[in-house]
Amino acid sequence: MKIAIEELAGCSGCTISVLDLHEMLLEVIAEADIVYSPVIMDVKEPPEGIDIAFVTGAVRNEENEERLNLIRKRAKKLVAFGTCACYGGVSGLSMLGKQEDLFNCVYRGVETADEGNVIPTDVPPFLYRAFAVGDLVKVDYYVTGCPPKEKFLRTIIPALVRGDPIELSKKSVCSE
Ligand code: SF4
Repeated sequence: MKIAIEELAGCSGCTISVLDLHEMLLEVIAEADIVYSPVIMDVKEPPEGIDIAFVTGAVRNEENEERLNLIRKRAKKLVAFGTCACYGGVSGLSMLGKQEDLFNCVYRGVETADEGNVIPTDVPPFLYRAFAVGDLVKVDYYVTGCPPKEKFLRTIIPALVRGDPIELSKKSVCSE
């Protein structure tokens, strides 16, 4: 079983939430290899033959879209993991302003920005809006929560890895 965790436009909190499995993570790793995750390993792109891809974050720019399309091609099952991936989440808030205003705020306006900061020119261009993962590719499972709750992950991740049936939350935003 090969697992990948892709990061799109989000805060990495969903990937880190997998660590909340604590000792159960050892059981998961005994049955599955994590072959790709930009947050926890230095692998540049997802390999072929992924069994389950967990995709976190929304699709806000062209790079997010390319990465989503690639992992969808290479994964048998794709899980939209977390509220950003399922619904757009906080990335959707960026649609309240223009790209230029957002960049000015992030690189110059916030208290922690250095005076005279320049706005980088190599940031991928925004798409015209933020998309949830399911707006653009086929999704096999939706796992909600910002980030998904530990007790929920303890039920679904081992089941997904073993191919057992899983029961998903009936609620749409909070996963309890
Ligand atoms: Fe971060 Fe929440 Fe989005 Fe996950 S759903 S990437 S925790 S903002």
